[in-house]
Amino acid sequence: MLKLTLDMDDVLANTHEKLIDIVLNDFSTNLTHEDFQGAGLRELLHPKQQKRLHKIMNTPGFFSDIAVKEGAVETVSKLSQFYEVYVATACMEFPNSFQDKFQWLKRHFSLIPWTNIVFCGYKSIIHSDYLIDDHPRNLVPFQGKGILFSAAHNRQETRFQRVSNWAEVAELFIPYT
Ligand SMILES: [Mg+2]
Repeated sequence: MLKLTLDMDDVLANTHEKLIDIVLNDFSTNLTHEDFQGAGLRELLHPKQQKRLHKIMNTPGFFSDIAVKEGAVETVSKLSQFYEVYVATACMEFPNSFQDKFQWLKRHFSLIPWTNIVFCGYKSIIHSDYLIDDHPRNLVPFQGKGILFSAAHNRQETRFQRVSNWAEVAELFIPYT
């Protein structure tokens, strides 16, 4: 079976949506929800706000209640019939996220065994046939075929084949039977 590796934040999990909600509700800002559809957090937030957000992200519990992206559960379940599915999440930046992320995966994607979950730093260490990720920095050094999952922060990227949602992942990866 071919190996298909999935990123977690902004591929399986709607992490940015939670961050945007925090900024709009708890930060003093004139930004609107629409602003975040057209630009990444790094482009929109002051470095001090980014620092504050970083701290929030490293608080235990932050990653425990993030919403699953629409269609991800159903599609991953189908994909697992055709591929060895792995999850690789570069979470060393947020060491307090390990437990939350592991529990989150167990809760929503129980069909992915712990043996197929990789908590990593650089994803260049991942050997897989495919990697679906929202960050070009993870796809550039990847040796297999990298697929970019669309997000506001990668809208100008042109080097990779794109998917915009899980319906498109299904279309691309699930063979007609
Ligand atoms: Mg990601």
